Amino acid sequence: MESLPRDPDTSLLDFTQAEDKDKCILSSDSFYSSSSPHEQKTLPIDDRSPLRGPQGRFDPYDSSEEYVGVVTLPNQVRQKAVKKGFVFNLMVVGESGLGKSTLVNSLFLTNLYTDRCMPDVSEKIARTVSITKSTVDIVEEGVNLRLTVIDTPGFGDAINNNDSWRAAVHYVDQQMEKYRRDEIGLNRKNIRDNRVHCCLYFISPHGHGLRPIDVNFMKALDQRVNIVPVLAKADSLTPKETRNMKAKILTEIDQYKIKIFQVPDCDHNNDPFRQQDLERSIPIAVIGSNTVVERDGRRVRARAYPWGIVEVENPSHSDFVHLRNMLIRTNMQDLKHTTHHVLYENYRINCLCKNPCLENV
Ligand code: GDP
Repeated sequence: MESLPRDPDTSLLDFTQAEDKDKCILSSDSFYSSSSPHEQKTLPIDDRSPLRGPQGRFDPYDSSEEYVGVVTLPNQVRQKAVKKGFVFNLMVVGESGLGKSTLVNSLFLTNLYTDRCMPDVSEKIARTVSITKSTVDIVEEGVNLRLTVIDTPGFGDAINNNDSWRAAVHYVDQQMEKYRRDEIGLNRKNIRDNRVHCCLYFISPHGHGLRPIDVNFMKALDQRVNIVPVLAKADSLTPKETRNMKAKILTEIDQYKIKIFQVPDCDHNNDPFRQQDLERSIPIAVIGSNTVVERDGRRVRARAYPWGIVEVENPSHSDFVHLRNMLIRTNMQDLKHTTHHVLYENYRINCLCKNPCLENV
């Protein structure tokens, strides 16, 4: 387990953004006090408000009679959550060579695959799909995220890939079952959440839409895990090819009734257009790189070719930023929420229904 020092140039959490968000919670224009169920009293918080300190900054602990202090609740939740730390379990699936490891490193600005060894072709033929886990602690401005990346080496490598999805299904179910047992066990307070919160499914840019292995995998897992389809190595497609490929993939997802993660209507994202951008970009066309190059005085992650540079974070080159925003900055809690309240609930209900003791209840 390593704890990574963050590069301030490439820090994932934009602190100004975080501060803005605080301001937005704390200096909201109106404050509702529910003194009567039928009456909502709106108290403006302007610069002369008693909730503002001497420097005009918001002071939630001011003991003014007009304010109960409900406004501090988000802060209390935040403090508790930060103290506890965050956990996120991400599964990456796709045939080898599609850029999964490179993308994970680019997303989390880390090097998760230091001891990776590549099998040769004879090993690949004999190999079955296995599951590997790498965990890293990412600390930013005192906020700790324990990230576990679950990889499926061997997926799609065999000559017959009909059963490639089985190992992933088994792993996902195993983690759900472990959580369920922990929940009904004695030590509920210290349950470790190893359930898979999101599965990035990598689709090859070289085909004509989905292949049978893609359909089989997504159909087998779509009731068990939040699937986010990504179009790998988008730099190998022209913008028109990318558009066509995305349209084809979406049509096929629809045709095979595959359930992919739906970005919920956002209440925490102040800019609805960003949300629409994200929705429009699915399947998310991504580019990954482990190389940082100098560009116009800036250090950027990019792929350098003899004819030019492809920047990972440049929105006109790929949707990488949408993916990172969704996974980390805007929808990580939604992914975890859906995992717990929808997917895990379904799993739990299925288990209860199978339990013979409950047959007569
Ligand atoms: P994995 O086996 O799916 O984990 O794939 P890797 O991340 O190991 O990448 C396999 C090869 O593809 C490496 O040579 C990478 O440098 C290259 N690669 C990774 N991401 C991209 C990308 O977005 N575009 C292109 N053109 N190549 C990539």
